[in-house]
Amino acid sequence: MKYVKVALSVILVLVFGYIVIGEYAFVYDTPRSGFICHELPGDNWVRINDDGTREPFTLPGRAGEDVVIETTIPSDLDKDISALCFRGMNMQVFIDDVLRDEVIAPRYQLLGDRSAECYLIVNIHPDDAGKKLRVNYAYNSGYVYGVYYGTGLGIWAYIFSLYGAELFVGFIILSLGSICFIASIIYRIIYKKYLEMQHLSIGVLLGACWVLSNSVFRQFYTRNISVMSDVPFLMVMLLPIPFTIFIDSLQQRRYTKRLTFAGWMEIVVFAALMILFILGKMPLVKSFYIAALCCLITIGIIATTLVNDSVKKLTKSYEYVAVGFVVLALAGIGQIFTYVFAHNGVFSGLMMSIGLLGFLICAAIHTIKQLIGMTLSANEAMLRSKAKDQFLANMSHEIRTPLNGILGMDEMIIRESRESRIKQYALEIKSAGNTLLSIINDILDLSKIESGNFEIIPIDYDVASVLNDVLNLTRPRAQKKNLEYNLSVSETIPSVLNGDEIRIRQAMLNIVNNAIKYTAEGSVHIDVSSRDIMQGNYVELVIRVTDTGQGIRQEDREKLFKSFQRLDEKKNRNIEGTGLGLNITHRLMEMMGGRIEIESEYGKGSTFTITVPQKVVNRQPIGDFSRAVRHYLENIETDDATLYAPNAHVLVVDDNAMNLEVMEGLLADTAIRVDLVASGADCIQKVMETDYDCIFLDQMMPGMSGEETLREMHSKDILKDTPVIALTADAIIGAKENYIQRGFTDYISKPVKYRELEQVLKEYLPAAKQLVKEHAEDLPVILIWGNDPERLRLEKEKLESIYKCVCVVGNKAADRYMEKHTPYGVIHLV
Ligand code: ADP
Repeated sequence: MKYVKVALSVILVLVFGYIVIGEYAFVYDTPRSGFICHELPGDNWVRINDDGTREPFTLPGRAGEDVVIETTIPSDLDKDISALCFRGMNMQVFIDDVLRDEVIAPRYQLLGDRSAECYLIVNIHPDDAGKKLRVNYAYNSGYVYGVYYGTGLGIWAYIFSLYGAELFVGFIILSLGSICFIASIIYRIIYKKYLEMQHLSIGVLLGACWVLSNSVFRQFYTRNISVMSDVPFLMVMLLPIPFTIFIDSLQQRRYTKRLTFAGWMEIVVFAALMILFILGKMPLVKSFYIAALCCLITIGIIATTLVNDSVKKLTKSYEYVAVGFVVLALAGIGQIFTYVFAHNGVFSGLMMSIGLLGFLICAAIHTIKQLIGMTLSANEAMLRSKAKDQFLANMSHEIRTPLNGILGMDEMIIRESRESRIKQYALEIKSAGNTLLSIINDILDLSKIESGNFEIIPIDYDVASVLNDVLNLTRPRAQKKNLEYNLSVSETIPSVLNGDEIRIRQAMLNIVNNAIKYTAEGSVHIDVSSRDIMQGNYVELVIRVTDTGQGIRQEDREKLFKSFQRLDEKKNRNIEGTGLGLNITHRLMEMMGGRIEIESEYGKGSTFTITVPQKVVNRQPIGDFSRAVRHYLENIETDDATLYAPNAHVLVVDDNAMNLEVMEGLLADTAIRVDLVASGADCIQKVMETDYDCIFLDQMMPGMSGEETLREMHSKDILKDTPVIALTADAIIGAKENYIQRGFTDYISKPVKYRELEQVLKEYLPAAKQLVKEHAEDLPVILIWGNDPERLRLEKEKLESIYKCVCVVGNKAADRYMEKHTPYGVIHLV
């Protein structure tokens, strides 16, 4: 490709070099026969006065309003000459007193009474040579232009060579102005942001309108040149206004008073001049002088702001625009002065057009720089937010890992300690640890919501199971506070719905937990119902939580959904919380198309209602859930059978030694045989050697992650049907489906709680290996004897899950026992 690029450059140089040499070094050979244009001699004319007297008149020249002039057409007229060209307002052309052509502006102009300057091309024939040519000009602007003769094409080509540049630049700024305007509007719609370019482009478009409506070629692209000839005057009055708005915004409103004054001055003067014009009191030509003066004042005011900024060294942020403005201002002043003081013929707006083009180019450079800046800062913000997410995810993992250890060890202290004071301390640690964990979860959730990475994942779910979970997780707290706790569930709720079960449970837990937290005495009542809505196969799930707690003041309601906003800080000093729960609930509801409402009376209690639309999967009513709940509660104790599975064999994989220790400790009472390994590779090795009943596999491990290890085991086909449970620090609540999708059987979130661990094991260990409590009675009996009762007790505690321990103190007692029984084993503590 490199050589292709070089070859292309060489070819381009040669081709364009050839064109340039052809233009400047070769002989002139373009046929020009159709391009004839001469000026009729200007000194052969006579002016015919009203009284019939004649006086010599020179073209181009000045005259009053109406003028009649006469000359003789050259007698040596070329045979190709076919047209005469005149410029003026109302004109009549006579050849030998016969009217050949005329321009008479009809009197139906809407406003004003002036006609507009234009070209009149009159056909002539070779036999008109030497004839008398008379022209009557009316409504003249005071100037009588030269007359041309030649071919039509030749005359227009000549005029184009005089004024074509202005037309060309006019169209360029019209196109660029339109593109900038459309771009700024699109930008505004998409990004909801104002681009200064919007008013700049309006200004440039007004400038382009001025140039094009004033151009000598306007008769080509307008139907009514009289109206079009008013446009330049209107534009001159309006032009400064958008530029003042643009500059004001650019200077970040530092000089807004001055610039607002300039803007109002322009508007008021425009309105006054327009009224005078409409009333016929002042033609636009005259008002031009006042408009030009206003324009100069505005330019002056803008210039003072630029000077102020440059003194304060603030022009740096818009240096290109400042340069562009200086160019435009000079061009504008030059244009006004040429018009007012040096107007001797066709008014060309070339100077103004070039000024506008210069300004537009400078402003475009500024805008491009501004857009690049915006894109860069948007990218930067995105990267920052990504980095923040990553940081939070990492931080949450890093905090959870040691927390997992703390809570796990703490759990063992609670289970093993016989000393009530120590147990109490450990319970305090557990409570504080759990609060810390929920704060980390909330922060992680909120940051995900704010960064837009939070997804609502709808799945089919069993309504009863969600309600059950909420009940299980909240009821003990209410009981502890001696609160009356009621859950009433409408029998008609469809049993299976589709929605984000995890988030619904989370929202519900938030408001139920709050009700319990902020109620010192009385009751918490949860009412769950559903109602049909007119939208496809959907129902609205309505969850009302009413408490008799402290209530919320009317004026505090707005603060409720703000993050980290807690009410009644003094009163709630001892209640744990971060002020994130309701904010998250509110946002979750928004994302799921639902809403949260509050009714509350300060001092008496509150009712929080969440209403969320859910798709119906199975219309079969949920039935008497309350009875089911009652039944469940009555039988809750019997369901509490501790897991005991001495024949089961479980593998735990975690890179963190403390976590392994915690798992081992938690499983000690179950008598399950536990193997511990610290890496994915070791896990694979172990699984190849042994048939496990269940594997607990940590998600985040250095080297091979949990997921990779699992994949590897699947590909080696060594797993058979062994359930693999993910140990994860990242999941907040639920996410089971997510793990199942990744190939795991289920997951447990860290820090592992014994209850959850037991539940999972009960679900996945082969039923035959799970012995019920009573079977513990069938344990092999061992005799432990020694002289220190405390040591005996400790030893018994260690072994009692595996053996039925009989402890005796002293030799004699041991002998007596042995006489009557034959234990499975004997331990002598010396
Ligand atoms: P927090 O973690 O503080 O409980 P929330 O966002 O859940 O955060 O609640 C914000 C504030 O709203 C709480 O600090 C509390 O003052 C008030 N609040 C929430 N629920 C109740 C309620 N049921 N009764 C009284 N006040 C409540």
